[in-house]
Amino acid sequence: MVGKLDFEASLSEAQFRAVTHAKGPLRVVGGPGGGKTRVLTYRIAWLIREAGIAPEHILALTFTKKAAGEMKSRLASLLGEEIAIGAATIHSWAYRFLCIHRGKHAEGILGTWNPNSKNAILADARQYFAWQKSVQAAKVDIAPAFALHTVSRAKNNGVSREALRAEAERSSDHKLVRACDAWVEYERWQERMKVIDFDDLLILANELLTCKDTIERVRDQHRVILLDESQDTNLVQWGVVRKLAPPPKSELTVVGDYDQSIYGWRGAAAESFLEFVQDYKAETVTLETNYRSTRSIVTTANTLITRNGSREDKVLEAAGDEGVTPIVRVEPDAGVEASRGVEQVRRWLAEYQPGEVAVLVRAWWLTRGFEERLLKDRIPYQVVGGPAFFGRREIADLLAYVTLSVDATKDAALKRVLNVPNRFLGAAAWRAIERHALKRDMPGLAAISDPGLRWPKQYMRDKAMDLYVLVQKLRRFEGTTAELLEHILERTRYLAWLKEECEPEEFRNRKENIDEMFEAAEEHPEPADFVFYAEQLVPKKDDAEEGVVLTSIHGAKGLEFPCVIVAGCAEGILPHERCEDVEEERRLAYVAITRAEKELMLTSATLYRNRGYTPSRFLQEADLEVPEYEIATPDSGGEAASATTVAAT
Ligand code: ATP
Ligand code: MG
Repeated sequence: MVGKLDFEASLSEAQFRAVTHAKGPLRVVGGPGGGKTRVLTYRIAWLIREAGIAPEHILALTFTKKAAGEMKSRLASLLGEEIAIGAATIHSWAYRFLCIHRGKHAEGILGTWNPNSKNAILADARQYFAWQKSVQAAKVDIAPAFALHTVSRAKNNGVSREALRAEAERSSDHKLVRACDAWVEYERWQERMKVIDFDDLLILANELLTCKDTIERVRDQHRVILLDESQDTNLVQWGVVRKLAPPPKSELTVVGDYDQSIYGWRGAAAESFLEFVQDYKAETVTLETNYRSTRSIVTTANTLITRNGSREDKVLEAAGDEGVTPIVRVEPDAGVEASRGVEQVRRWLAEYQPGEVAVLVRAWWLTRGFEERLLKDRIPYQVVGGPAFFGRREIADLLAYVTLSVDATKDAALKRVLNVPNRFLGAAAWRAIERHALKRDMPGLAAISDPGLRWPKQYMRDKAMDLYVLVQKLRRFEGTTAELLEHILERTRYLAWLKEECEPEEFRNRKENIDEMFEAAEEHPEPADFVFYAEQLVPKKDDAEEGVVLTSIHGAKGLEFPCVIVAGCAEGILPHERCEDVEEERRLAYVAITRAEKELMLTSATLYRNRGYTPSRFLQEADLEVPEYEIATPDSGGEAASATTVAAT
């Protein structure tokens, strides 16, 4: 049992006011490290301890599962393990809600949905498969991935099937019309299979929350609701929150920071957070002291964010010491950027644990250099929020082809590329190959060409033989790894296939990873060497959990680390060249900088993948001293890159 909590001593005056706010809607605003999440946690403790609210009537909604877990453990240390509080992401809340309340109101998909089945939520490969089938059933010529992403986006923006079709017809967008046709089939599939997907969770929760007696029961259960990271809540999610706790009188506390809204591209409705005060006639508490970072880090962040035109008026002052000045580096290329970065990590490790150091990137391809250098230096690391470089789908696919060209007996590689790009060789084909290979004690590739293999369908033999012939050609290929990769891309038409498979933005990100793979290939021109090198970087299950964290800036929201490197601070990367809103990019840089507690290093290179870059405008805007650097001239056709020195601005 935990003793009496001294709220006043643990909180600043403003935080204390927010925590002990007596009645009605409350909006807590404050910059990074202002203690917003801390206020949420303490407020829950206060509601239970001082205001007499039963823990089961409190619902805390967080942005990620990790944040929900974190909140539960902070509450456990404040209140003791025995008190269970509902802290969940809005999706997991919706899942539980639907399980309990679908009952007699259930119609359509909700009526047939079986939440108890192991695969009650359609996701990942199964969801992709469902879209494949739906596209086939609708007899439309579009990539399943396109339909999947288009429909998912529509659902997240609260756009119905009818509305999407109307829009498609109005704009004569034939591809979109076809996606709508596939959507009809997808829903049929869902009903047949009794499954719903992640997007449906919120849509169905919204629908179910229009039933009067359900609403009453749920409101009676969740009497107090708290929402963290409100600035990144999208409209469908706001819909749920508004129904659970309608204006103007509900016991709803929302916490957020407009300056940290970084999901506008995914439909986050930051304005709803701004409008909350009028909407709910809510009281606002502003937190203006940063308890996380040194003064020099806070000053850097403040200087940068004031460049944004659309902001909410507030200040952020550091409670801590001045600390050390952030380090800024501009290196000649990405390899040097990573190795110097890792040198700095090593220095920090004299004082800090690996898990206290984070490398943050705007674009995922940037992790490769760091993964490689950390591995070389035997520093434990973990890629968080996405696969490690060589675990990424497109990289693993191409690596599998290179592997087969070096060693055709590698069955795992064969299995990976059997149906990549699509050859209509699914699980049944692989089972046939595997069975035969086992019986004859031969590798899978040899089994394919063995006349004794009994194929479930005749066409499978022809398709598999195409692959067999291709691998034989790759084995005879003479050239560097990069040439081999080029040849693989050409022969398999991999990029054209990938483009069909992905949403445009996803395709561009994956293509960037492939470009980065070519960089690695240049460093290991011998294919066998390359495979050896890559295999060491393929993520293993038992990879360190307490290692240096490599993650995206988006994934680092809400987190804090004593030491932070923000890599790739170059024009075109941060801000990203494809961004539509430079202010959102500036907010991203702001989020990245403010993750650091004590040590901050911002790095960039003038050459990435043989393209010249200049340091990010954000470095200057943050009033950081950018060191003198040399403008790189990309190498054209094997000549050494020349360089011109420019004075720092
Ligand atoms: P972000 O916007 O990045 O999510 P936040 O506003 O949620 O930040 P918190 O994570 O709650 O900020 O707090 C930042 C750090 O400062 C935490 O380590 C927290 O424990 C600490 N902190 C906050 N308020 C106080 C305080 N009054 N006294 C001591 N430490 C504090
Ligand atoms: Mg927070």
